[in-house]
Amino acid sequence: MTIMAENISHGTVYHNFIDGSWVPSVSGDLFENRNPANTGDLIGVFQKSTRQDVERAIDAARRAYASWRLVPAPRRAEILFRAAHLIADRKEALARDMTREMGKVLDETRGDVQEAIDMTYFMAGEGRRLYGQTVPSELRDKFAMSVRQPLGVCAVITPWNFPMAIPSWKIVPALVCGNTVVFKPATLTPLSALSFVKILEEAGIPQGVVNLITGVGGEVGEPLLSSDDVRVVSFTGSTAVGRTVAQQAAPSFKKVHLEMGGKNVIMIMDDANLDLAVEGCLWGGFGTTGQRCTAASRVVVHERVYRAFLDRFVARAKALRVGDGLDPATHMGPSVSDAQRKTVMEYVDIGLKEGATLVCGGHPLGGESHAKGFFHEPTIFADVDPSMRIAQEEIFGPVVSVIPCRSFDEAVAIGNGVTYGLSASIYTQDVNRAFAAMRDLYTGIFYVNAPTIGAEVHLPFGGTKATGNGHREAGTAALDVFSEWKSIYVDFSGRLQRAQIDTADL
Ligand code: NAD
Repeated sequence: MTIMAENISHGTVYHNFIDGSWVPSVSGDLFENRNPANTGDLIGVFQKSTRQDVERAIDAARRAYASWRLVPAPRRAEILFRAAHLIADRKEALARDMTREMGKVLDETRGDVQEAIDMTYFMAGEGRRLYGQTVPSELRDKFAMSVRQPLGVCAVITPWNFPMAIPSWKIVPALVCGNTVVFKPATLTPLSALSFVKILEEAGIPQGVVNLITGVGGEVGEPLLSSDDVRVVSFTGSTAVGRTVAQQAAPSFKKVHLEMGGKNVIMIMDDANLDLAVEGCLWGGFGTTGQRCTAASRVVVHERVYRAFLDRFVARAKALRVGDGLDPATHMGPSVSDAQRKTVMEYVDIGLKEGATLVCGGHPLGGESHAKGFFHEPTIFADVDPSMRIAQEEIFGPVVSVIPCRSFDEAVAIGNGVTYGLSASIYTQDVNRAFAAMRDLYTGIFYVNAPTIGAEVHLPFGGTKATGNGHREAGTAALDVFSEWKSIYVDFSGRLQRAQIDTADL
């Protein structure tokens, strides 16, 4: 069976994956996906799905759960190991598709695919662990233990900025725990999602265990969130949509895992290695065109090194080459869409009106080389006050706000002074300050002498406050989203023993 339905004149048409088959939406409606670096490049045409498609997928996943949950976890994991091999074999082609699909440079899309490989291997390993506890009972001839059990059908809703890594963070732990999945990828990156599901199919995932539905967020999302048959929702995306997801999922008491926006900070102290800090701010601020939840969109700099840092940072940012991510000479790709670039332009206006000093960039890029894409200059505002909107709100673009501070304590207060709490970092040579910052920044991730991006798959990933609702993905923490504890007591005494009461019998 092929994922391509027709190769019609206006591009390849891709299908949904429901109950083990690649099928069109009942709507008959389609949407286009185009390259944000070159809108003349049509990636493909995808299904604009409806409630009916979603209900079919949920039903398939519900039926498949009955047998998948009973497949021994090490056997489930064998399929995932095969999938990891297949992703690794196809890494280069998958990365190229992804660069065409959402714009980030090839090195970064290779990293995205590598993260899916790493996560799949790591979670497949969990198939032989999924550790619970055995503890001594307080009573004689009694055995006490806890085991993880799956929950059922999981809805997986993902954003476009990590089109393969983030789906893998959710789908693979869900599967190894014995759940089934209905996956709704971002409208802007359906091809990478399809390729991932296609690989799971080739690796031997049984019919109905993984289902993929493409389409508009609200239309596909609502029936997933309201269904009584869906027991878990794992969502990564904006804080505004995350709030809606939580509200819609509440009446049916689903387990809701939310990973949302960020306004991450790099703090540069007066004893920092400034060259290292400049490198970190370039990568943290402009990597993925600033479109990472962990992007370093705020840099707080001690006044004693403020001018020296700013001069070097601006000089390096001005030298960044912006262009098509497939070109090896490109440092920074386009915004993912026209709407995203407009948001960037609006925030540049807001920053100027707020009185921040524009010291680098600030304009969309046109001209012959950039006319067909959504390019924008790397942009730096200096002398930013922490209360300004550009220092408070997630922009999700290549805009960095540099904020002066007078002390370590002030840097920490500014760092914590936003509604989000995903990632933070400090550049310092002072181990005491580094440990104090590790303790005092209320974020889910912290770095010392490295930027705010660079998480590895085997530690928990997620944020506090408006970034998350207390869950974590990645590491073994992800298993807590996709499993529930069952505590089991086996009494082999042959008589009634009452916990907390019959304790005199030592
Ligand atoms: P988004 O919130 O617009 O969309 C996320 C997903 O939700 C998409 O699949 C979308 O189609 C779907 N969706 C939209 N409306 C919906 C609805 N009413 N019901 C159900 N689903 C709906 O976010 P985006 O623009 O795709 O991604 C960017 C955002 O994601 C940024 O805020 C970024 O910080 C965040 N993000 C967070 C993390 C993290 O781990 N914390 C990681 C990556 C991205």
